[in-house]
Amino acid sequence: ASKVANLTFDGEGRLADGRRIPLLANVGSAADALAARTAHAEGIGLFRTEFLFLERDTEPTVEEQVRAYRAVFSAFADPISRPKVVVRTLDAGADKPLPFLAHSAEPNPALGIRGYRMVSQYRAILTRQLQAIALAAQDIAVSVWVMAPMISTAAEAGEFTALCRAAGLATSGVMIEVPSAALSAAQILGEVDFASLGTNDLTQYTMAADRQLGALASLNDSWQPAVLALIQLSCQAAAIDSSELGVCGEAAADPALAVVLVGLGVSSLSMTAHALPAVAAALASIDSKEAVDLAALAVAAPDAITARRLVRERLAILTEIG
Ligand code: PEP
Ligand code: MG
Repeated sequence: ASKVANLTFDGEGRLADGRRIPLLANVGSAADALAARTAHAEGIGLFRTEFLFLERDTEPTVEEQVRAYRAVFSAFADPISRPKVVVRTLDAGADKPLPFLAHSAEPNPALGIRGYRMVSQYRAILTRQLQAIALAAQDIAVSVWVMAPMISTAAEAGEFTALCRAAGLATSGVMIEVPSAALSAAQILGEVDFASLGTNDLTQYTMAADRQLGALASLNDSWQPAVLALIQLSCQAAAIDSSELGVCGEAAADPALAVVLVGLGVSSLSMTAHALPAVAAALASIDSKEAVDLAALAVAAPDAITARRLVRERLAILTEIG
């Protein structure tokens, strides 16, 4: 425990052989962003914008949104490195209802009109949000990327990119958090500049196990072979044209799983800021070849428990030798 407590992160994620893996933070507010900057995150890999829309009776105005987004961007402003800030558009809907909209009741909210799917009924909310993000990004020394949640098809990805371009946003991407998106990652990556694996939802939908039900925790485990197989498929699609594919689900905060994700080919990891030191230490303890070997070990394991145990054991040995 004392070893963990003494870990620090100096702001540059890399493997033992020097290969860079940017380590970013997940944030939901300006306070989170400041904490992430203090923890030396290299940027923001997931800015959840829901906080501004939930628990209020009216949609936030464009001006209000601009102020809130600028507060987060400012925390990372740096004219030399221009850190990356990935803003996720509103991820609400039947599962996280907005009081100012008349959502119809749905029998299965997690499978309903949520995330990007809200565009079908409420396109103007998304276009106003994109406008606010573009305005907030002006004259601030960060690189603003925008991504859509809950994308299921390449057509949706293409439509989102068109909306971003129309708003003057040059870098658009999507979350891969639905099995259909992982299965069509090659086509989806053809429509966007980058993608980010949302392993929380990808796990829930792959295993058909509600992520909020503790009783299903053993199914709802990102080490499950089927989940790793979909991640691997997405990475193979990204490798073909060197697309940027990060991870912003909780899986990135598990040091042993982070090593596996890098071995499978993801290019960056985004996590809650307090996980940065332990993940950085795990990455620094292995080289690229070892990461690939550990990923192969996990992918070939018969079940989640075995995958986790085998990788943790091998990592402990490598770390001792190293
Ligand atoms: C995810 O689904 O993995 C994710 C990062 O998004 P959220 O947890 O906000 O659904
Ligand atoms: Mg999600």
